[in-house]
Amino acid sequence: MFVDVHCHLSFPEFDEDRPEVIRRLREQNISLLIDPGTNTETSRRSIELSAHHEFIYATVGLHPHEISTAFSPETFSLLEALTTEPKVVGIGEIGLDYHYPGYDAKTQQEAFRSMLRIAKKHDLPAVVHSRDAWEDTLRILKEEQSSNLRGIMHCFSGNMEHARQCILSGFKISIPGTLTYKKSSLPEVVGEVAIGDLLTETDAPYLPPVPFRGKRNEPSYVRIVTEKIAAIKELTVEKTAAIIKNNVFTLFPIRRHSQTSIP
Ligand SMILES: [Zn+2]
Ligand SMILES: [Zn+2]
Repeated sequence: MFVDVHCHLSFPEFDEDRPEVIRRLREQNISLLIDPGTNTETSRRSIELSAHHEFIYATVGLHPHEISTAFSPETFSLLEALTTEPKVVGIGEIGLDYHYPGYDAKTQQEAFRSMLRIAKKHDLPAVVHSRDAWEDTLRILKEEQSSNLRGIMHCFSGNMEHARQCILSGFKISIPGTLTYKKSSLPEVVGEVAIGDLLTETDAPYLPPVPFRGKRNEPSYVRIVTEKIAAIKELTVEKTAAIIKNNVFTLFPIRRHSQTSIP
């Protein structure tokens, strides 16, 4: 019943014990997982993993940190070609990350726009990564506005005003494990954003929730994020999980009938 809308289960960090990680997430009732690509190679790996597991879906994209090595018309057309693969349900991750120096902002913006246009052209939701780049992210989303531009702000780290603007642009707010951190301002955001606009993710192997900080994150921990949202919203965990799962079905082109084979 839980959903992890952003988990890099196909990354090498899980090569040693992926079957056990999958067994644990099934035990914890995680019934849907989206594995995002970050360049052409990892996008192919996401697709391959999704082909082997019915409850796993893939997105294809170019992460802002991959721009310096992978920015080329060939990359964009390769990624666009991958959108026809059966389990591809979105474009991402894409976006802007100004946290570390050395990644040219203008090139990041150009890539972000190109990928958003691919998302619109194929009528797919976008999986957006935005770190220390709110002004430009929100501006580009506004400029690229169209009737079918929609998606998720993955690993949301902004404030309530950022959240409001994202929602106005057709984006849902995806809440990671940082919600459980002591200094996090996410509880406030979760409190104010309507539950119909919220999603849950781990961004594993990164950013594990309390009490697993310092360790490798894994998708079974999305349960902790959902429980915390339920507590803030004063809803049962079951109800919270059901609404969030429904949010995923509203946004991503995942056929509902595939639910029947998922316990
Ligand atoms: Zn990201
Ligand atoms: Zn990610």
